[in-house]
Amino acid sequence: MYYSRKRLEDIPQEATAIWSCIQEDCNGWIRDNFAFAEVPTCHQCQSPMKRSMSELPVLVNKREDQKFLKKGVQIEKE
Ligand SMILES: [Zn+2]
Repeated sequence: MYYSRKRLEDIPQEATAIWSCIQEDCNGWIRDNFAFAEVPTCHQCQSPMKRSMSELPVLVNKREDQKFLKKGVQIEKE
């Protein structure tokens, strides 16, 4: 009914596979789609990273967004 009320808070989130740094005092992490098949190393402290899931806002890069709009291509794919 009142869709316009909280548009900014309605950024969709999805469970996203990420790699997070094993060092507790390091907040380094990357999205899994940036990673390779092997365990990546943290770009901040060079520690190994562990795979985990995190609820992240669905990020849409503005340039990508425009590209997708032009092509009419869905972001999701197998
Ligand atoms: Zn780190």
